[in-house]
Amino acid sequence: MTEINLISDTVTKPTAAMLEAMMSAKVGDDVFKADPSVNELEDKVARMFGMEAALYFPSGTMTNQTAIKLHTAPGNQLICDKYAHVYNYEGGGVSFNSGVSCKLVNGTRGMMRAEQVLEAINPPDFYHSPLSALVCVENTTNKGGGACWDFGELQKIREVCDQNGLAYHLDGARIWNALVARKETPEQYGALFDSISVCLSKGLGCPVGSVLVGDKELIHNALRVRKILGGGMRQAGYLAAAGIYALDHHIERLAKDHQKASELGAILESLIYISKVEPIETNIIIFEINTSLISQEDFISYLEKHQIHLIGMGQGKLRMVTHLDYSEDMHQRVLEVLKSCPIPQV
Ligand SMILES: *Cc1c(COP(=O)(O)O)cnc(C)c1O
Repeated sequence: MTEINLISDTVTKPTAAMLEAMMSAKVGDDVFKADPSVNELEDKVARMFGMEAALYFPSGTMTNQTAIKLHTAPGNQLICDKYAHVYNYEGGGVSFNSGVSCKLVNGTRGMMRAEQVLEAINPPDFYHSPLSALVCVENTTNKGGGACWDFGELQKIREVCDQNGLAYHLDGARIWNALVARKETPEQYGALFDSISVCLSKGLGCPVGSVLVGDKELIHNALRVRKILGGGMRQAGYLAAAGIYALDHHIERLAKDHQKASELGAILESLIYISKVEPIETNIIIFEINTSLISQEDFISYLEKHQIHLIGMGQGKLRMVTHLDYSEDMHQRVLEVLKSCPIPQV
């Protein structure tokens, strides 16, 4: 039985065609900015978003952390939703790297309203509280179950930032999913944010890589921060070539991942032992078990027995993520296995 890994969209392996693109990449030493493939990838992503410049990074954590470093000074505060990746899943890097604290907003599925952002700003003259410097938003939201922002709300938050002298960063690890689901364009986002970080290693199926996009000055300064964080890589063109390939071939197909996720959601909704399925817009499914019928452990081990792997999100929530390596055959098997879960008689 083949393993079916629904833990994350990061579990994918390069396709044969992606590997071929990687193997035939032209490379040089990127620390000297002399790797043609990395340069091509950076130009390509900058142009897609209609922004001036871009910089290739080994991870999305490093792109976010670099952006935060560049938009803040030690002692400052950034504003984000309580579910934000920059707050929950970057190892405390906000304080470690930038000496910055987070003001958490109690949003819905990882998304804040502009009024909430406005309320979260500390009065700049009141020197007892940290100086608010930056707003970070995430699209799609990871812990929020792949939810997509309403673009109008993002525009309203831009106005709040402008009126209060705050920088505006987008953690766009899964922005590609949002663009496909909402039929939006990267240019729309490029026009709105001071910096955007995007991941190539999630839905797009690359083994490695993220890109930070911004204006020339920001990206010039990002080069130094990346160096300090140890993110300067040498013949990184082999990896960048995967990114170029993915941008050309793996964006539109995300609709298939979304379709499968919504089918999984529909089955889960119909099952008596599932108590809640969060709305599904993209490739992430978050749901809860009715533990009076089956325990989480029993459910997980039932799936494991069928070589199906998913992940717990804490607070009784479980998560499945569809991706490039989750085939139609696997999908049919998972639907069957979910439908056949034996429930102790009540
Ligand atoms: C995955 C992810 C990142 C970056 O993760 P890396 O594993 O460091 O590449 C950042 N933000 C969100 C929302 C993510 O899902």
